[in-house]
Amino acid sequence: MTETLPSTHAATTVRTWLSEFSAALASSDTTAAAALFTGDCFWRDLIAFTWNIRTFEGRGEITGMLDETLASVQPGGWKITDGEEPADAGGVIEAWIDFETAAGRGHGHLRLRDGQCWTLLTTLYELTGYEEAKGPRRPMGAEHGAIRDRATWLENREHESHELGVTEQPYVLIVGGGQAGIGLAARLRQLSVPTIVIDKRSRPGDQWRSRYKSLSLHDPVWYDHMPYLKFPDNWPVFSPKDKIADWLESYTKIMELNYWPGTEAKSATYSEATGEWTVNVERDGQPMVLRPAQLVLATGMSGRPGIPSFPGMDVFRGDQHHSSAHPGPDAYRGKRCVVIGSNNSAFDICGALWENGADVTMVQRSSTHIVRSATLMDIGLSALYSEQAVAGGMTTEKADMTFASIPYRIMHVFQIPLYEQMHERDKDFYDRLEKAGFDHDWGEDGSGLFMKYLRRGSGYYIDVGAADLVANGDVKLVRGQVDHLTEDAVVLEDGTGLPADLVVYATGYTSMNGWAAELISQEVADKVGKCWGLGSGTAKDPGPWEGEERNMWKPTRQQALWFHGGNLHQSRHYSLYLALQLKARQAGIPTPVYGLQAVHHLG
Ligand SMILES: Cc1cc2nc3c(=O)[nH]c(=O)nc-3n(C[C@H](O)[C@H](O)[C@H](O)COP(=O)(O)OP(=O)(O)OC[C@H]3O[C@@H](n4cnc5c(N)ncnc54)[C@H](O)[C@@H]3O)c2cc1C
Repeated sequence: MTETLPSTHAATTVRTWLSEFSAALASSDTTAAAALFTGDCFWRDLIAFTWNIRTFEGRGEITGMLDETLASVQPGGWKITDGEEPADAGGVIEAWIDFETAAGRGHGHLRLRDGQCWTLLTTLYELTGYEEAKGPRRPMGAEHGAIRDRATWLENREHESHELGVTEQPYVLIVGGGQAGIGLAARLRQLSVPTIVIDKRSRPGDQWRSRYKSLSLHDPVWYDHMPYLKFPDNWPVFSPKDKIADWLESYTKIMELNYWPGTEAKSATYSEATGEWTVNVERDGQPMVLRPAQLVLATGMSGRPGIPSFPGMDVFRGDQHHSSAHPGPDAYRGKRCVVIGSNNSAFDICGALWENGADVTMVQRSSTHIVRSATLMDIGLSALYSEQAVAGGMTTEKADMTFASIPYRIMHVFQIPLYEQMHERDKDFYDRLEKAGFDHDWGEDGSGLFMKYLRRGSGYYIDVGAADLVANGDVKLVRGQVDHLTEDAVVLEDGTGLPADLVVYATGYTSMNGWAAELISQEVADKVGKCWGLGSGTAKDPGPWEGEERNMWKPTRQQALWFHGGNLHQSRHYSLYLALQLKARQAGIPTPVYGLQAVHHLG
């Protein structure tokens, strides 16, 4: 079958560029390859060239990377993806591309300006010889014929789950069986990597069941699919927390995962000599040891509560807890509730307490960005993740790749106009909020919610109704820093006393390398450094510029230790690259890592 070649001007320009790029790479002329890029170019690589997640900025960085990687990567077969016509959007030509490397097959995205590459995304999606058994390669399931003593699917599954971790060691141990851990485990199963997921909670999905009872996902269904298994068409736009919990529990069964509930990792040490972790776990109260080659911490980016320490917390006589331990409003009808913090959890909790007849005060300590859910869906997400996008032919995979194709360094430039539109559309709402004394921001450069999430993972609320309660005074708003607690009140630095029967610390979560400190050692946590953040130099995301999320889904400075997590979209997308990195190591495919990140912050 011959390839049908798109014949538009855009396609011709892309084909010419690919052919020159391919020739430069084939002749190892890295200077010529870099010269095909604009002066302000970006090349984002998700493991295809670097076995790392890195963005290179400018020709010099690209040359440096190619000089070191070309010989082992041996890229070739560059072409426009079949059926994807390149498009010219206001002088920028965009194209989906395919290529191959010595290790596998790659997919990418290209933006050309005046015939030169402005942004390039390269991703590896499959290892040659280790293709997933899906689609045309799907397993038969039944073995037709007459076979003595045949084992059924159930017998094989039971055998595997009895033996793995007992007589056979898993290659990968994933600590944490939330959506991140199980999505990664599903991918590793497809790649035939023996994997166990452990979680200290007693049922898959309990991470969500245990959160406050009013919670529904803040992101819409199109954004939230798990790998391989999409939500059905009748799934609600915003999953209630117990419904998503049941979905995740079903997922572990459907994807045939070796999931050990009620199993807590207590400590772990790595031996460079044997290339093995020794992980002490307690399974249903019984101590046992697991010896995986690779250890993944999928213990939650919003998992380690950041609990403040205020004088007087020990004398306060009412209830007090972090938002992660908040049971919901039922016990607090008619009670005086003080919620410290003004981000997502604080608003959700204040809203539910007010709905249940509590007397609620929110203490705002620093400014928060708020965007209304419907507005965010229309303006921020609809092009990629919405019913209209699906109707227009957008797939989850293409949406994820489109998102991944925008380098973080310039992402805010694309985001700022969207948030300006949001401001315009909901101007009355913001005026009312500010009039009520709420300290609102749009991010330090006006780039809004998603950049705040990528930079610091906090500092915002997706409004599903509670902001109006603050704006109209139903939820009282107080601004200031907490100084101390007394037996029955929270006292602010300016002396304001807030009588309280309940204090909720909606004060966020701490960096994931804290999990490494708890489980492995402070030394390893420091060696690895802070997780998350781009190094943007904005609040809670100190520089220097990193260009990618610190330590997430890629090699860390601790051999065989990985961090996985993020929201549902990120876990879905980046679990592929993490799974391939692990598979390559298990299969003995060389994985020379280029540009292992330096550590600038400890946590
Ligand atoms: C209130 C709230 C609302 C949110 N809303 C959204 C949303 O709308 N959309 C979205 O995408 N994200 C949302 N998030 C972010 C959310 O945390 C994640 O999407 C999701 O829970 C992260 O999944 P995870 O698997 O990375 O971590 P978690 O779900 O936090 O799972 C980590 C697991 O690790 C286990 N664990 C920890 N330590 C150990 C140990 N030593 N041994 C064994 N097990 C251990 C825990 O028991 C836990 O089950 C929200 C978070 C909160 C707190």
